[in-house]
Amino acid sequence: MSLFKVLHYPHVLLRKKGTPITNFSDNFRLFLKNFIATMYEFDGGGLAAPQVGIAKRFFVVDFKAVFESDKFENKENSFKVFDKDNKEIPASFPMVFVNPELVEMTEPIKVNWEGCLSFPNVESFETQRFLNVEIHAQNEFGEKFSVKSTHLYASVCFQHEYDHLDGIMLPDRWNKKSFFEENIILDIKDFENDPKERKRMKKLRVIEAHKLKYDFI
Ligand SMILES: [Zn+2]
Repeated sequence: MSLFKVLHYPHVLLRKKGTPITNFSDNFRLFLKNFIATMYEFDGGGLAAPQVGIAKRFFVVDFKAVFESDKFENKENSFKVFDKDNKEIPASFPMVFVNPELVEMTEPIKVNWEGCLSFPNVESFETQRFLNVEIHAQNEFGEKFSVKSTHLYASVCFQHEYDHLDGIMLPDRWNKKSFFEENIILDIKDFENDPKERKRMKKLRVIEAHKLKYDFI
């Protein structure tokens, strides 16, 4: 198992728009194993390909811990997964979304708790999102599926990860008057330069995914 380096804002590759996956190869699935391990290692609820410097359209999420806690409303009926024939299937995590499309977004809401692995140590400001979301995607084998969500955390997470695929970052969603760009970059630098974090990163021996060649690109 390898871990990938998660790029921090304002790394230029975070801004690159992803292109669709057309080659669902074994190597792609092997990459996903390491990609998922990376999400868990850094305690993310989701991770999108551009965050490791890969300009492709896929992300992974895991809502298990959130669904088990009562911090957000009960998942009963608020999160439904359907197979390619529109038959409801059980949700299982981690869940891989390849070439996702947000086909419905209604019920506008404002949230101020969105976090991002590309913004460590940065406080969140208000973002405008939607509560009712329908997303269509392919899994790691290229099979189509869809999710209907009115679950607050899951719906916001889908919109956040989808933004990454278009190179859209949290500050683009925040009110420009609510933060200073320089402070955000300073907070991230403080995190990176913290001796404990440096030691931890050295031990993890992360791979810079964007410096390698993959057959699915
Ligand atoms: Zn993010």
